[in-house]
Amino acid sequence: MVEVFAVASGKGGTGKTTSTLALGMALAAEYDVTVIDADTGMANILFHAGLSDVETTLHEVLAGNAPVEEAVYRRFGMDVVPCGTSLGGFREAEPGRLRDVVATLAERTDVILLDSPATLGSRSAVLPIVLADRIVVVLQPTIPSLSDGLKVQEYATTYGTDVAGILFNRVTDDEAIDRIATKAQRYFEGETLAVVPESETVRAARRASEPLLAHAPDSPPAESYWEAASALTVRPGESAAVADRFRSAVIPDDS
Ligand code: ADP
Ligand code: MG
Repeated sequence: MVEVFAVASGKGGTGKTTSTLALGMALAAEYDVTVIDADTGMANILFHAGLSDVETTLHEVLAGNAPVEEAVYRRFGMDVVPCGTSLGGFREAEPGRLRDVVATLAERTDVILLDSPATLGSRSAVLPIVLADRIVVVLQPTIPSLSDGLKVQEYATTYGTDVAGILFNRVTDDEAIDRIATKAQRYFEGETLAVVPESETVRAARRASEPLLAHAPDSPPAESYWEAASALTVRPGESAAVADRFRSAVIPDDS
């Protein structure tokens, strides 16, 4: 069984990478989880997961220079596929090969989380959303962020990708978020999975090169991610069928 989620938002800095690793660790309590850094132009899972020194990353795999197995690292109870950060690596990477990477990994895991690029950045940035079964939209509690998030939802649903839920991150005002979340519920197709507070602990985890749930598993922001993961019901797709779907997916042309 497998389900593929893209963790997405309109712009950068909303907390996609933080959320991908946190949801991944929380889901790993129940499922076999694989996390892939599909943000191949602005990769940073490696910095959040203590993998900045590894030899082989998704860049080499997407360039056709390494088998995917060489870029899979067992960390924090999950399989993590980091991506390199060099411009040269990005230039050599063939984005369409991501389909084969996901297809291969889909045959050996229960949940795949794709840490996705800022969707509104370029046409090729929508690839993870096109490929995923469902997306988790990471939002900050501001009107521009909600507006961006709605565009991401529109992209996703255009490609037949459902919305699993929305995640509010970097929340400072408890009262305002209740109002905003209630409103958002009307416009977003998925439920509100959790509200994650703005917290110095999240930044400290990043500085320590550890996912939040490894660095401070009992902290308030970590609690929110545990809650989000338990609100997320994984739909078990048949692995071989999901792999076939990925291999034959049509890539939107990047023009
Ligand atoms: P994205 O992947 O969407 O660009 P990141 O997960 O890299 O976003 O987060 C961007 C920055 O914001 C990072 O430095 C991260 O540590 C910080 N950050 C994310 N979530 C929080 C939070 N809840 N509280 C404080 N800082 C946060
Ligand atoms: Mg990121």
